[in-house]
Amino acid sequence: MKYWTVCIGEKIVRINLVHIVVAMSIVVCTFFSSTFTVFQFVNSSIHKANFFKQKKKNEQLTTSIQKMLNNINVLNVKLDSLVNIDNKNRLVWGLDTIDEDLEKLGVGGAKIQWSSIGIVDKLTESLQALKNRTDFVAQSFDDLAHSINRTEKILNATPSVWPTQGVVTSNFGWRKMGGASESHSGMDIADNVGTPVVATASGIITKVEYAGRLGLCVEIDHGFGYRTIYGHLSRTKVELYQKVNRNEVIGYMGNTGRSTGPHLHYEVKISGESSPPLNYIIPGATTY
Ligand SMILES: [Zn+2]
Repeated sequence: MKYWTVCIGEKIVRINLVHIVVAMSIVVCTFFSSTFTVFQFVNSSIHKANFFKQKKKNEQLTTSIQKMLNNINVLNVKLDSLVNIDNKNRLVWGLDTIDEDLEKLGVGGAKIQWSSIGIVDKLTESLQALKNRTDFVAQSFDDLAHSINRTEKILNATPSVWPTQGVVTSNFGWRKMGGASESHSGMDIADNVGTPVVATASGIITKVEYAGRLGLCVEIDHGFGYRTIYGHLSRTKVELYQKVNRNEVIGYMGNTGRSTGPHLHYEVKISGESSPPLNYIIPGATTY
């Protein structure tokens, strides 16, 4: 076998091919081993960096979700106040109050076991519950608006003011006429001929005619079963089927029909039955 002589420092060493191969193998193994170790280290560092990055992201996400949950709680508290106000208004307008448990459950909702679910599910459930509550309260507001609208229409249609100025000379009910008793279906208010006569509620003119003993008269249909009649007029200011508002002049006091002097015969009918007009005049609700 061939040998070579090499100097290593001050030493002279004889080496052959086997020595060289072994030495090179050691160098190559050391190189790959070192490279692999470095690779492992780098790889591990990257993984660690990613892990911490992801962990930080998760923490930020959890913080954000917690903030959202807190905001949902704030909205729920505000919704509680709205429900409280809504319930008071419902009472005022004659509606049943909202059942608190039903409202908090939400339409089609279910009670949530918070401890058994993760934070993301908790957020999803909270949002759904909030949406259900909001829908429920919105529906209640709609009901209330409809009720107010209907009540307002009924109030507009209810005779509630004096039809003219003057002195009440005869009230609703039994009275003596020429020694005999007769039923008076309305109220008489006397003043000068030409004194304005107004509609006591909004409605539609359903009669403008000479009606025997009532003379020239006007009838208004107010809806909801209410009708008013104005008799003995000298002249009218409205046409058949005309829409009129409360306090709108419909004619003028006169002495037409069976009348002993200028006055207005004012009558209120509910579902066809005559009713005492004074019951429908709000104290202080004078036209003049
Ligand atoms: Zn009368």
